Amino acid sequence: MSIKENILQFRQEIPEHVTLVAVSKTKPNADLMEAYEAGQRIFGENKIQEMTEKWEQLPKDIEWHMIGHVQTNKVKYMAPFVSLVHAVDRIKLLKEINKQAKKENRVIDVLIQIKIAREDSKFGMPVEEANQLFEQGKLSAYPNVNVKGLMGMATFTDDTDQVAAEFELLEGIFLRFRESANLSILSTGMSGDYKIAIENGSTMIRVGSAIFGARN
Ligand SMILES: *Cc1c(COP(=O)(O)O)cnc(C)c1O
Repeated sequence: MSIKENILQFRQEIPEHVTLVAVSKTKPNADLMEAYEAGQRIFGENKIQEMTEKWEQLPKDIEWHMIGHVQTNKVKYMAPFVSLVHAVDRIKLLKEINKQAKKENRVIDVLIQIKIAREDSKFGMPVEEANQLFEQGKLSAYPNVNVKGLMGMATFTDDTDQVAAEFELLEGIFLRFRESANLSILSTGMSGDYKIAIENGSTMIRVGSAIFGARN
């Protein structure tokens, strides 16, 4: 199927309350434009330089999501335009996004990435640390950052019970703090596990290869 058909099929398949992020990392602008012409406006990238180049070259009504691990010293390059940063996994990064957002005179939306995978996962804030962050109201120290929700990646495994358990754990944290911390986004699920993610409360899926084909 073509990129365009894949986008249209996803739009039919996923519930209305779930947002589709088209993960376009490594793909050429022509591929993104094919998705754009099918109506897709939210794209996810995992490298700041690549995302910035695409932002400069492509239509300005695209919303750019940074879904990958972010190095603190590179935040300044995306601060003028990024629409959502998915993988904030440490206070130091929150602090830097706040600083650069202030310089740009804007408030940047972010998600806190929580470590839910038992294996495979280098990144993500430990659950206990995230609990403290939300319980103790520490977020008010960062007025130019708006924490809109949580993000997580499950272990890369064929064991669907394990994947479901990991997503369920994150959904529990999301529901616990949803009202007090005003959270609305739960970013879980990729090409291989988005169905399990949606069954476990996902409101935003990040899909790459199932739309654009395999990456090299
Ligand atoms: C690459 C990537 C995805 C998309 O992966 P696919 O398996 O191609 O759908 C989702 N989330 C993150 C954080 C990624 O780096």
